[in-house]
Amino acid sequence: MPELPEVETLARGLQARVAGRRIVSVTLRKTDFMDDPVAIERELPGRTIKRVERFGKFILLQLTSVEEIREQDATESQRHRGKQAKRKSVVEHEGDEGALRLRNEELASDAQGADSSANREHARALLVHLGMTGNLAPHFAEQPLAKHTHATFVLDDGRELRYIDPRRFGRMAYLSGETLAAELLRFGADPLLVTAEEFAERIHGSKARIKSLLLDQSVLRGVGNIYADESLWKAKIHPGKQGALLKREETDTLLAALQKILRKAIEMRGSSISDFVDAEGIAGDYQQRHKVYGRDGRKCFRCGAKIRWMVVAGRSSHYCPVCQRAPRGMTGRGKKTKRAGRVWTSKR
Ligand SMILES: [Zn+2]
Repeated sequence: MPELPEVETLARGLQARVAGRRIVSVTLRKTDFMDDPVAIERELPGRTIKRVERFGKFILLQLTSVEEIREQDATESQRHRGKQAKRKSVVEHEGDEGALRLRNEELASDAQGADSSANREHARALLVHLGMTGNLAPHFAEQPLAKHTHATFVLDDGRELRYIDPRRFGRMAYLSGETLAAELLRFGADPLLVTAEEFAERIHGSKARIKSLLLDQSVLRGVGNIYADESLWKAKIHPGKQGALLKREETDTLLAALQKILRKAIEMRGSSISDFVDAEGIAGDYQQRHKVYGRDGRKCFRCGAKIRWMVVAGRSSHYCPVCQRAPRGMTGRGKKTKRAGRVWTSKR
């Protein structure tokens, strides 16, 4: 399943290739993964894609409102120029990371700012969750329609933004105003932006196992199975340890490991497992850097012990039994399974 680095890669590609384009028409095919297909068909034509960004594991296509279309030439463009100038200076000084921080700040203020009630009213977006196998990318109109193309958005330059998804485990929703704000507020902190204090608070406050906390989108938004396992291995923390039992040094080490891994993975355009490709159809390379994920039975790069897997909170978790010491009471018990793993369930 695409996680933060893959979705960030795809969102950056879409921002570069379709932002500023107007949607001319919409054709939907299978719609069982859409919140309200009629709203998508009715609301999208005529709107411009203002910006494409990642929010957790979602791709957010920010769209213009009717009011904005009218006001665009007047006060809006002035404000926009100010924002653009600020963005340019941040990008020059802080690079992509700064741009990400700024985008998320703007998004947060659009979603919850007290003085942005007008913004909030006018905010509208298409939310796309890729599920297991989804892809959203621009195509030339003459390119034949791939199998499993479930949505086509014709753009004003003749290209088509197509959503292709063989398994349809994703989600697509058109949301606006308060509904959009409420949807975004359901999610926890962005792991690339959260402070060490906030991260420690979110982890310490729960008896759930650390692996399931990392996967819980209301705690942190964007982390999935691969990057949870990789960061726990790097931080030498057992996936079955309770969040509440982690020391402050451990949460600090874990956050640093997670951020380092996510940044490196973004740089390498994500991990290509189950056919992930970016907006240009190019696969990511980070799967070559995996230290534990999918390596059960092979040697730990750090100590040489055999990597094992176990099920924590319903998800398979890869770990090194030597580097990542099991918490008390977790060794030697648990239900044995056919493969080398053991099954544990969380009490959460
Ligand atoms: Zn090891």
